Amino acid sequence: MPVPLAPYPTPPVPFTPPNGTTQSQLVCSGCRNLLLYPVGATSVCCAVCSVVTNVPPPANQVAHVNCGNCRMLLMYQYGARSVKCAVCNFVTSVGASPSSEQKLSG
Ligand SMILES: [Zn+2]
Ligand SMILES: [Zn+2]
Repeated sequence: MPVPLAPYPTPPVPFTPPNGTTQSQLVCSGCRNLLLYPVGATSVCCAVCSVVTNVPPPANQVAHVNCGNCRMLLMYQYGARSVKCAVCNFVTSVGASPSSEQKLSG
């Protein structure tokens, strides 16, 4: 008697690999749950406790800030605490913003 063919195993649920994914993870600052967020997002709203967690900027990236004196758009490396304007030599502080929430208008 022939051995009955075993059914094909159900394929595992596809998941995005850790590398090359468009999503990243961080720990909620409120409830410490692991949150998934799309790469590029600057903040994540927790679905559990509704706390908004700021996404840490990736390394080796530059950010922009307007000169505090002449409003010139300056580029600086993430992590820098201040940027010196090449136009007016004014030093603009770009330290990590405190927990105060700012709402962008426009
Ligand atoms: Zn949470
Ligand atoms: Zn300037």
